[in-house]
Amino acid sequence: MELEFYGAAGQVTGSCHILRVGGSTILLDCGLIQGGRKAEAANVEPFPFDPREVDAVVLSHAHIDHSGRLPLLVKRGFRGDIHAQNATKAIAAILLADSADLEASQVRRENRRRREQHKALLEPLYDSEHVADVLEQMIGHRYDKTISVAPGVTLCFRDAGHIMGSAVVELALTEGGDSRMLVFSGDLGQYDTPILRDPVSPERADLVLMESTYGDRRHRDRQNSLEEFAQVLEQAKKDHGNVLIPAFAVGRSQEVLYHLGKNYDAWGLEGWHVFLDSPLAIEASEIYWEFKHLYDEEAGAVFQGEYSMPALPNLHLTRSTEESRVIERLKGGAIIIAGSGMCNGGRILHHLKANLSRRETHLVFTGYQPQGTLGRRLIDGATTVRIHGDEVSVRADIHTIGGLSAHGDQADLLRWYRAIEGSPPVYLVHGDIDAAEQLRRTLKEQGSIAHLALPERRIDLMRL
Ligand code: ZN
Repeated sequence: MELEFYGAAGQVTGSCHILRVGGSTILLDCGLIQGGRKAEAANVEPFPFDPREVDAVVLSHAHIDHSGRLPLLVKRGFRGDIHAQNATKAIAAILLADSADLEASQVRRENRRRREQHKALLEPLYDSEHVADVLEQMIGHRYDKTISVAPGVTLCFRDAGHIMGSAVVELALTEGGDSRMLVFSGDLGQYDTPILRDPVSPERADLVLMESTYGDRRHRDRQNSLEEFAQVLEQAKKDHGNVLIPAFAVGRSQEVLYHLGKNYDAWGLEGWHVFLDSPLAIEASEIYWEFKHLYDEEAGAVFQGEYSMPALPNLHLTRSTEESRVIERLKGGAIIIAGSGMCNGGRILHHLKANLSRRETHLVFTGYQPQGTLGRRLIDGATTVRIHGDEVSVRADIHTIGGLSAHGDQADLLRWYRAIEGSPPVYLVHGDIDAAEQLRRTLKEQGSIAHLALPERRIDLMRL
């Protein structure tokens, strides 16, 4: 009975851990490494195991840094079951399809350059057929149901409150008469986050793998963030401008819609047109609406009416490019939610191009903007930017609104862990070294045994 760390050990992305029990090999997640060309080159490396000998995969949630190498695993011969929560299966279908499209277009662009330079051509990491195979092998489950994964391994998903379908993974392991309870937190959401329920702590565990993305931080208060958002909308109304909100398709887009729906009267939104201008975010929203039985109580009350859409009479879902082009002509009165969240692609670029040089425009960032992205350059105060090869001057008012993160902060992580009986030992995954180390120290000060999960480190679960 052994656990080995492979991905998201000492870093945030590429989540993947290897569990060996009674002759079976089980993967926890199989995520894509993200964060710049150099880091991403590692995605193509061989796995440290034979994919044909993996018996099953347990997927914590649909985000690409947890699911994005599943098609590659299948491409390299994995034929076992992939266990996931039902909503995770639905969201993984759209995110993996999008990931394959993105991969195809990147390789096409790169190969055009390589052909001119007479260099060897690249092959995409995987394509849509591999994604179809993944979905064929994926089995959806309800929360709180016990599932047999392999001889001596049973699984139960608990709500992790991070995105729709996200799960804390409880694994009951038995080998030669010994048993252990292993808990993998997946990604944990904030408590009291809208739409989603609070993260559920398991009753007990012998070992916990816990994420540590914000292990060294406290989020700004959500209420302050919402007041800030309301003020931006008020100012934009006075300025007769448009409001642009770059947003991630899954999670953030739905949360922004939720706040607009809930505060429709209080924020005086009747004069606005709200556009969700992203086919991927529209699909993700439809999945959210389909799984409304998983909402928390408050969201159940706000998202009512036909199809359980947000109560926003002025919401337009713009799927086609033609519809999207029409929005570009609006000089004011439009709240436009579009991807990508970091402005490194997608329809938001067209809207930025049309609106950035106007003083009356308000641009609202709700998510973290990494170095090297257009979003980051705008936040850092660039006076001109290049979009689709054109120079665009920046005169718009730019706002960053924190406090709406899908990840719990240090207090949330500790609260989740503290509710587990007996303070079991912890290995910290899914965090940069600094964040994980800060959380490790805090846990240690509070009397718990905590370690950083390091790549290729093996743990004998029998010796716990
Ligand atoms: Zn996630």
